[in-house]
Amino acid sequence: MEDFLPGLVGELRKCACLPYYIRENEKRYLSYKLHQPSLSWEEVITFVNIGLDRPFYTDVCQITSPNQLTVLINKYRRLPRDFIPGDLEPIDDQCSEGQMLLRHQARIAFEVMCCDARKQGIELKAISSFRSYVYQQQVYYRKWTEGMDIDQYQAERDRVSARPGHSEHQTGLTVDINDLEQTFENTVEGRWLAANSYCYGFILRYPKGKEHITGYDYEPWHFRYLGKKLSQLVYRSGLTYDEFYTRYLEILM
Ligand SMILES: [Zn+2]
Repeated sequence: MEDFLPGLVGELRKCACLPYYIRENEKRYLSYKLHQPSLSWEEVITFVNIGLDRPFYTDVCQITSPNQLTVLINKYRRLPRDFIPGDLEPIDDQCSEGQMLLRHQARIAFEVMCCDARKQGIELKAISSFRSYVYQQQVYYRKWTEGMDIDQYQAERDRVSARPGHSEHQTGLTVDINDLEQTFENTVEGRWLAANSYCYGFILRYPKGKEHITGYDYEPWHFRYLGKKLSQLVYRSGLTYDEFYTRYLEILM
C-alpha cells in the first residue's frame, strides 16, 4: 500500500464500509483508480470485483451452482462443460421459430409475455434460447477458416459471441427475440420489450453504452430471465446485471 499516494489510500478506506468492499482487492482498487480517475470509488470497487481491471477471459472461475436462478455468467465466470438444466421445456409453437427450449419458469413467463404482447398487436418470437456447450462451440467458431490468426479471430468474435461455457444461453434462462440486428431497438417490438419485459421477469442483458462492462455489443434482442422481483430491482437500478450481482447478490452467496 505504501506505493500509493496516502491521499488516495485515505479516500479508498472511506469506502471500506460498503458491503461489497473486499479487503484483499485493495491494491487492485487503487491501481485501477489511478488508471481510471474519472470513475467513482463505487464504480472502481464494483468493476474490480467483477474482474474488469484484467482483460476479459482472465482469472476465469467455474460456477459451482449453475442451477441458481440468479446465476451470473460473463467473461470471468464459466459454466461447467457438461451443464444442462434439468427442467428444460419446449416453448409453445406460437411463441417461437422452430423448436426452442427454456427452463420451466422462464418458459412460462416468456409465453405469458408473448400472449400479453399479442393482445396489444406486438408479435414476439423466440429465435434462440437454450444452447448447449457443444452447440455454443460451433456458434463461436462458425466464422473460423483455416489459416486465420486465432488472437485476431477471438478479438473480433468476442464482441458478438460468447466462448463456450460463457454463454448465458447455456443456463436455459435466456432468449433471443425476433431479430439479431441493433436496428431492432427502433421497431415497435423492440421498444415494447425494452419498456415492458422486466414486468415479466426479463432484463435486457447487454445494454447500449455498457459494452465496457458486459464485454458485448449492444443486443436489444437478448433477454435474461431473473424472476419478476429481481428483474424489477435490476431494471430500476439502471445497472447491468454484472454490477447488480456484484454489489447486492454476490455478498449473500
Ligand atoms: Zn443471445
